[in-house]
Amino acid sequence: MTQGKNITVAILYVCTGKYICFWDEFFNSCEKHFLPDTPKHYYVFTDQHFAQEDAPNVTRIHQENLGWPDNTLRRFHMFLNVENDLSRHDYLFFFNANCLFRKDISLDFLPADNEQLLVVRHPGNVDKEPDQMPYERRSRSRACIPFGTGKDYVCGGVNGGHSKTFLRFAKSARDAIDADYHDGVVAVWHDESHLNRYVLDHPHVVRHAGYCYPAKWKLSEELHIEIRDKTDFGGHAKLRTTAVTARGDDLVTVAIFGGLGNQLFQYAAGLAYANRTNRRLQLDTHHYDSNSSFPYSLGDFCIDALIGTSRTLPPNKADRFKYLTWKLLGRSPRLLRERSLAYDERLGSEQGSVYLHGYWQSEKYFAQSEDLIRRHFECKSTLSNRNLQIANEIQSTPSIAVHVRRGDYVSNQKANSLHGTCSPEYYQEAVARIQAETGVDHTVYLFSDDADWAIRNLNFPCQVKPVVGNDRASAWEDLKLMSSCSHQVISNSTFSWWAAWLNRNPAKLVFAPQFWFRPSSGVSSDIVPNSWNRIENSSNSQQKKAA
Ligand code: UDP
Repeated sequence: MTQGKNITVAILYVCTGKYICFWDEFFNSCEKHFLPDTPKHYYVFTDQHFAQEDAPNVTRIHQENLGWPDNTLRRFHMFLNVENDLSRHDYLFFFNANCLFRKDISLDFLPADNEQLLVVRHPGNVDKEPDQMPYERRSRSRACIPFGTGKDYVCGGVNGGHSKTFLRFAKSARDAIDADYHDGVVAVWHDESHLNRYVLDHPHVVRHAGYCYPAKWKLSEELHIEIRDKTDFGGHAKLRTTAVTARGDDLVTVAIFGGLGNQLFQYAAGLAYANRTNRRLQLDTHHYDSNSSFPYSLGDFCIDALIGTSRTLPPNKADRFKYLTWKLLGRSPRLLRERSLAYDERLGSEQGSVYLHGYWQSEKYFAQSEDLIRRHFECKSTLSNRNLQIANEIQSTPSIAVHVRRGDYVSNQKANSLHGTCSPEYYQEAVARIQAETGVDHTVYLFSDDADWAIRNLNFPCQVKPVVGNDRASAWEDLKLMSSCSHQVISNSTFSWWAAWLNRNPAKLVFAPQFWFRPSSGVSSDIVPNSWNRIENSSNSQQKKAA
């Protein structure tokens, strides 16, 4: 049997903002009841001050209030910031801020085997079958537990174990949370969903729900740790109120869907709106939950936004009744749906929480936040070695990025009748004009989703270097390479639009097609900025003549 006085136990406690109200009673009850004969050291992650912060067994770690849900979701990042300190202890235990110890917990509580993580059955899911448990089910989250699997459902509020075991879990959860964020998804029950995923295939011991039980609930087992009722302290919403909350008047939510170019427009419009009205941006990425033909790609950039969850977003269309009620009654967040692709002046600075749904394809939505947007659209990672070599070449030669968008504009009849494609003459004339206007011989870097067609059909009076080998997952690398060229010839594609917009060369020349959509489609657009040059893209203009 482990001797209580010979081991050291660290208590990990997060209490940012108003959650500090729980600290005093937590501390006193923990000192009294949790492993009473064992010395305990408290690591308190907070932006607040408290009476015991200079006590020898307390370490206060300044922790910014990250808002909801990051205060709970990013706990593993917090712990790992002080990993060296924590690894000096034998055992580590995390307790939710509102835990209150009611009865002695002796050394028997510790896992018999150091490799086991200690977890507690969730009091609200004790009698449920695995398929009824609130696991994360979306396959794009690292916390996913598909139907047909799963065993127990354990709570995020009390867990721990031998320090090596707990830190191993913390690293795995932190990495999974980061990877999810990159892919635009936050697990449904945050840290708890990741914990449940982890215990599924790691050694663990499950303690009964009396070690994490809500006050006022009836319990058949012995109550050791009570979860204090937050309504006695003002309720969840009030406790979580900070400069950053995920519900309420300080959020601008923007729907993200489509390919990379579309995503960048939606993000830029949302960010500019949030910045203008001094609010936080939240992304609704649920379109990527089911089989979207494009991946979510904003995680490749230095974006800064909350990722919405089913509990922070307005009702989903699949839930017809709730969705229609929200939409028809004009409930918060107020839905601002784009009326057409022409610039919509309504998108001003309305107060109150808003939800933006549209393509928002005009620079007018965000021109005033240009510097901010450029910062957010810096790439997070470095280019692959092959692309880095191309980037170095581009830096050392006068260059023109020519982007030839075909793909579904050719293969899909609906897309074709809306967009049409640009003719070889369009690209050739644009390159010739750049050569003539600058009086410099350039190298054309050719980017296309149909490289064979582009190489066979385009003739330029200069050196041509096709850039091939990047796919949808590495679209950001193509974007970076395109935008590093001196000038751009874009197709009617939001992808190359962004390459041209992000190009920082003050003397850049951008050529864009006269008709973004086929004139016969009747769709008008404000997408091309006035400073760019427009020339006929004959297959689309022929449509106009024929119409
Ligand atoms: N938390 C915090 N400040 C906040 C919100 C949450 O410190 O503004 C921490 C605190 O440790 C809390 C934990 O995150 O116990 C989980 O949050 P909460 O208890 O609100 O989530 P619940 O368990 O009720 O879903």
